[in-house]
Amino acid sequence: MNSSQNQSKAWRYFKKQNNGQTVTCKLCGRSIKLHSSTTTMHQHLNSHHEKEVVEMERSVHQEPRHQIIGKNHFGVRY
Ligand SMILES: [Zn+2]
Repeated sequence: MNSSQNQSKAWRYFKKQNNGQTVTCKLCGRSIKLHSSTTTMHQHLNSHHEKEVVEMERSVHQEPRHQIIGKNHFGVRY
């Protein structure tokens, strides 16, 4: 059941339509055709939402609590 882990990355940003052939981008609402693979979805993300994806990936891999504490130590106090 873990075999599709790579593909699920793109599925975070898309919703499959009922016909199974089209997906809707959650970020811009645009519909694109699904050509039997997630390549089209990745291409859409890369060309339209590169920034969003990078930030999403970063927030997934980061440890937010640690980062915030570090920032407060070195950064501005409110
Ligand atoms: Zn989009």
